[in-house]
Amino acid sequence: AEKAGKPREQAGRILMATVKGDVHDIGKNIVGVVLQCNNYEVIDLGVMVPAARILDAAVEHKVDIVGLSGLITPSLDEMVFVAREMERRGFDIPLLIGGATTSRTHTAVKIEPGYRAGSTTYVIDASRAVGVVSGLLSKTERAKNEAATRDEYVRIREQYARGQEVKARATLAQARENRFRPDPTNRMPGAPSFIGVRAFDAWDLADLADHIDWTPFFASWELIGRYPMILEDEIVGEAARDLFKDAQAMLKRIIDEKWFTARGVVGFWPARAVGDDIAVFADEGRVEEIARFHTLRQQIKKSNGKPNLAMSDFIAEEGPDYIGAFAVTAGHGELEIAKRFKDAGDDYSSILATALADRLAEAFAEALHKKVRTELWGYAPDEATTTDELIAEQYQGIRPAPGYPAQPDHTEKATLFRLLDAGANAGMALTESYAMTPPASVSGLYFGHPGSHYFGVGKIDPDQVEDYARRKGWDIATAERWLSPILNYDPGAIERNDAA
Ligand code: SAH
Repeated sequence: AEKAGKPREQAGRILMATVKGDVHDIGKNIVGVVLQCNNYEVIDLGVMVPAARILDAAVEHKVDIVGLSGLITPSLDEMVFVAREMERRGFDIPLLIGGATTSRTHTAVKIEPGYRAGSTTYVIDASRAVGVVSGLLSKTERAKNEAATRDEYVRIREQYARGQEVKARATLAQARENRFRPDPTNRMPGAPSFIGVRAFDAWDLADLADHIDWTPFFASWELIGRYPMILEDEIVGEAARDLFKDAQAMLKRIIDEKWFTARGVVGFWPARAVGDDIAVFADEGRVEEIARFHTLRQQIKKSNGKPNLAMSDFIAEEGPDYIGAFAVTAGHGELEIAKRFKDAGDDYSSILATALADRLAEAFAEALHKKVRTELWGYAPDEATTTDELIAEQYQGIRPAPGYPAQPDHTEKATLFRLLDAGANAGMALTESYAMTPPASVSGLYFGHPGSHYFGVGKIDPDQVEDYARRKGWDIATAERWLSPILNYDPGAIERNDAA
């Protein structure tokens, strides 16, 4: 029943919107295209749509289903809010949840309980959308399907609750005591070739094309498998080959006709760890602090001598150390190109152009990082990595991105963008939910120490939330909002003595 096919009884009208995710939601576009191909009418409200507008449009267009997607973590809370609003406003039509940051667990634990009058269903990918939608609109099957999903989500909630109980947390003080202490005498990255920022106005697109990691490209089209083997895959190989051929042809045009401009900026500064934060200085005098990056520390109880990591551990507390930062985009021109195809009725090419802009931005981050290691910071001048080794990130140093597991707080991008002056230097900006524009953009910090590596902060306790809020100059509620995906507690259930 979950195979794409003509709906069994009736096609319906679906409202789709992306909440708080003004990055590309390719998945949602594909769901829309797939549904349209199967005779559903799709009303697409686009990205960054507030709850009220979604629900007003649902009433106005008398839709049969509301579909929400989101790509960045703040959208998770927004979806919970939309579900509660549907309950409050007396909706009873099905709600679909999809998009890169969502999950079945999040849907079951956080979203579904808020919308009792209707049903909520998580859709894992576009290939399932038609089956799910036709099952929810079928007069004969709907009740059965909704009941099955409801039962499944009850089980997931129980499982989730059990998982929460067993995870013992260290106090923040204990976690700090157990921090990672890199040997400050061992292979420190040393001073970069300059202090301050340097901009790149038009990185060679052909060079970027050579650095593309194609595996995520196929994944964004829901073709799962590692490139290049995926091209020979028994099941998806033919679809992958067709898509790859189209992508190569368009990539050639992107380069020859200069559809996009790749702009970026990189910077290096003297730095010092201060508690769990990183102080950034204007010059080697290390007196004038020009920025402070805040980091979060793992609080899961560690056995076997493993440290409780925070990114600040990768910077020395004393002695000369440095931090780098970058912001790159391949997205100048992308919205215009995507719109031109869309206006011509060619949704496929529009999505393809967008997906290729995303790939070029990631390739830019990879190519620039190599130049940083070998030349601009220069701590690994003799590195000889192949493209495959680059993609596997087999080199010294990391480039963690705010909003990712090692620093789940998206608001740190504001500090990053200000330091780099990413607006003037690369034409990049942040939206109010801290998504980057143009959408095909990548940014992060550079750590050069050989002991630095990616990790996940995991769930944190109230003691760290309070400490972090103080360091950020936030009240607790603000901290809990931005950190909501990693809270190890339900913020509503906790009593505090805040001076209100
Ligand atoms: N080759 C991939 C690169 C992107 S994913 C592509 O083309 O899509 C890898 C990047 O994600 C890393 O370089 C880093 O910037 C970020 N990242 C991955 N894991 C992370 C973590 N745990 N914390 C912070 N950033 C992380």
